Amino acid sequence: MFRFSLLAGAACLFMIQAQAAPVEPQAGQAVVPEKIRLVEPQLHIAKGGAGAPQVALTLDACMGKTDRRILDALVQNRIPATLFVTARWLKQNPDAVAILKANPDLFEIENHGAMHVPAITSLASMYGIPTAGSLDRVRAEIEGGAAAIVATGAARPVWYRDATARYSTDAVRLAENMGYRIAGYSLNGDMGASLPAEAVARRIAAAGDGDVIIAHINQPGRPAGAGVVKGIEALKKKGMKFVRLQDVETSLTLDQVAGSADRSVHPEKQAPGEPPRH
Ligand SMILES: [Zn+2]
Repeated sequence: MFRFSLLAGAACLFMIQAQAAPVEPQAGQAVVPEKIRLVEPQLHIAKGGAGAPQVALTLDACMGKTDRRILDALVQNRIPATLFVTARWLKQNPDAVAILKANPDLFEIENHGAMHVPAITSLASMYGIPTAGSLDRVRAEIEGGAAAIVATGAARPVWYRDATARYSTDAVRLAENMGYRIAGYSLNGDMGASLPAEAVARRIAAAGDGDVIIAHINQPGRPAGAGVVKGIEALKKKGMKFVRLQDVETSLTLDQVAGSADRSVHPEKQAPGEPPRH
């Protein structure tokens, strides 16, 4: 979907500037309340170049179970991935968590929220899912997700991805002020685990240097997971290197969602060159 919107030239509002300083109002200048917009973040990683192309595989564990087809293939092929997990998925999948923890060289565990809530304050629902609705609830969602990850003994997460990959701009700023980077993506591998296996395999196998792939690792009963495995294997065969978000420089673009337009633009902060873990 993002690919299409990129090709279609969807309004790309602003690139994230590394270490952009917030703009302070001058003395005597009226402070205009910021308009809240709805954005879809796109994330890329640094390219490895023609001789060493690289992609980041990011897998969401929203709730429910674990797709062992994917998890086992990653372990067997020693393919690194970044997993975005919710507190509720962690509680329901202790066996999978044990595998993640047993392979710290492969798996980076990041924050998908406590209860899988869209980080949106300006709309009541997104794709039929009730949103956070307030910054307090966004904060609780992020903190609850982080607490559950830390409770497993994993490192404190530094990336946050909400439930629907759409955010209101005030929620983006809150997450950044809490020390998080917003985990967009550039290639939607499985469209929420909704596509047939062949389509998923084809999409993932088409990933290019610098892409951030998103797919799901929590739908073992759907055909999509088999396609994720096939796509990954095809990339590996082509010599594609897999990297985790914590191991590479990234760049984020916030695309405004059509229909949520207004006139205010606020530079967001991102520091792609900084080491993501301390
Ligand atoms: Zn999710």
